[in-house]
Amino acid sequence: MNLSQVACRSCTAFGLVTILSLGKTPLANSLLTAEQLTEPEPTYALDLAFCPRCSLVQITETVPPEELFSEYLYFSSFSDTMVAHARTIAERLIESRGLNSNSLVAEIASNDGYLLQHYKKAGIPVIGIEPAANIARVAMEERDILTVCGFFSEDLARELRDNWPADIIHANNVLAHVADLNGVVRGIGHLLKDNGVAVIEVPYVKDMIDHCEFDTIYHEHLCYFSLSALNHLFNRHELFIQAVERLPIHGGSLRVFVGKANQRSDEVERLLLEEEKWGVGRFEFYQGFGAQVEKLREDLLNVLKKLKAEGKRIAAYGASAKGSTLLNYCGIGRETLDFVVDRSTIKQGYYTPGTRLPIHAPEKLLEEMPDSVLLLTWNFADEILQQQEEFRQRGGRFIIPVPEVRVV
Ligand SMILES: [Zn+2]
Repeated sequence: MNLSQVACRSCTAFGLVTILSLGKTPLANSLLTAEQLTEPEPTYALDLAFCPRCSLVQITETVPPEELFSEYLYFSSFSDTMVAHARTIAERLIESRGLNSNSLVAEIASNDGYLLQHYKKAGIPVIGIEPAANIARVAMEERDILTVCGFFSEDLARELRDNWPADIIHANNVLAHVADLNGVVRGIGHLLKDNGVAVIEVPYVKDMIDHCEFDTIYHEHLCYFSLSALNHLFNRHELFIQAVERLPIHGGSLRVFVGKANQRSDEVERLLLEEEKWGVGRFEFYQGFGAQVEKLREDLLNVLKKLKAEGKRIAAYGASAKGSTLLNYCGIGRETLDFVVDRSTIKQGYYTPGTRLPIHAPEKLLEEMPDSVLLLTWNFADEILQQQEEFRQRGGRFIIPVPEVRVV
């Protein structure tokens, strides 16, 4: 792709600079049925680039959202960590913002209602917006969460605004996924009451670079934000980052509190200054990332090759999007791995994109007792290692690939 013709997703300037190319890969969440195994899979370029004007890190290819999200297979409630994370922030905001039955909490990409359920239980009206029909249905039927099934957009926000102006808008891990970034930010501005607050969580690009989390790069994940890049984006739309927190979730995230009044906490000032010192607004900061990623691939392949040479059996844990990037980029498939396990019942019975590994329930690990398990969902390592206590006591080992390869 000729980068000179690609405009920045945020500031629309041309002149993006390539940081890293991961080659052509299939869509990371497009799991295959047994029937599809005979068909070729479409692949798309996966290149990471930097905008020198507004400092946003982004991928250059945009796959149409309809191809990505219509039968999305990620149910937040399958992770204990996610559910606990959601409850904590809901309880905190109910308390600090004095929310009650006259308030309204909206969530963009509300998934299966894992977050809004905590508000609903406290008697606070909620509305979710979720494009994946099968997931929206679970929110409505099993949790009784009012859910609009569709993509959040400026137009939808205008429609909702009259009847549903929001005191709180949650947007967890969605801003990085939207193609019309500026439209969605304007939409947040429309839907938000004048004194409302949008609580937005995104993976933090600083953590991605520092901890070599290259597998968080996939086609659904269009942008990789720093606070500086977010600041440019919101200010352009008369919205202001009033507070910020760094969170350990998903390998390191930023949670920003965005409102219509131009007031910043000391923490926002401090982190912006810090970012300036680190140089996140300059290409040099990202320059070494590619070499770091290649080194990780080499280390991982060496560990796996050694195990195979010893006649060991290896499986993987977590049929996740990041797992797909890691396996496809490193070229690890059925010659190395016997199968993948995943706790999400909806993924079981499918096959992983590109690498075509069968996906089973986690119980398969105890049944088959492979010698080692490559942990693809390393962001939930604590939770998973705890759940797999018995497997480990019986001698099973886990290979954690990121930030550097280690065996536990
Ligand atoms: Zn830009």
